[in-house]
Amino acid sequence: MIYIEKKSEPDSLRVQRETPGADFDGLDKTDLRKSLLEEQGYLCAYCMKRIRKDKSVKIEHYHARNAKNHMDYENLLAVCTGNQTLKDDKGKVQRDRFTCDSCKGEKELRINPQNKNDMKTIKYTNSGLIQSSKEDFQNDIDHILNLNDVHGHLIRNREHALQPIILRLHKLKQGQDAMPILRRLEKYCNEIDEHGQLPEYAGIMRWYVAKQIRKHS
Ligand SMILES: [Zn+2]
Repeated sequence: MIYIEKKSEPDSLRVQRETPGADFDGLDKTDLRKSLLEEQGYLCAYCMKRIRKDKSVKIEHYHARNAKNHMDYENLLAVCTGNQTLKDDKGKVQRDRFTCDSCKGEKELRINPQNKNDMKTIKYTNSGLIQSSKEDFQNDIDHILNLNDVHGHLIRNREHALQPIILRLHKLKQGQDAMPILRRLEKYCNEIDEHGQLPEYAGIMRWYVAKQIRKHS
């Protein structure tokens, strides 16, 4: 999970909100989807998996949807489908594998990716676990969002995302200054590319690079 800085809402959402009797379901979500994806670098707000404009993206209400907040831009996030369509050998939906909004449902989170201080409590392990220094946030991560599901793919995907960075640093020669490479890696995992995208699972990379920079400073 990484900090999401909200930008201005699309006109279509504002117009819909100001139209008497109009609701969220009646909104053409093309602009809204684009706006959310762009401010999140095309990553799921919770698990940081790549999401795109097609069916792989859902619009999530951070606080459970109600008549007051359903069209509040601050309450909207782009998220992945959270394994919603994953089925076992017998064709049964695997609810235990649900992540992100699919797992969360109507439950309320305490951790908020729009809160910088909440995001500062996040750390990882080299083997891909996501952790928070606050117990209630850890509970959200493990149980409400299911981001550390040992039977799922997220832990392994995060570990894989980190591997090239670890390998690059291992290639440093004895006595070579690590900082120029660390600064390049820092830029890579913090900046959006020419397609408006952040690297998938950028959070674990940022955590690791920041830790190495502190070590070498
Ligand atoms: Zn997700």
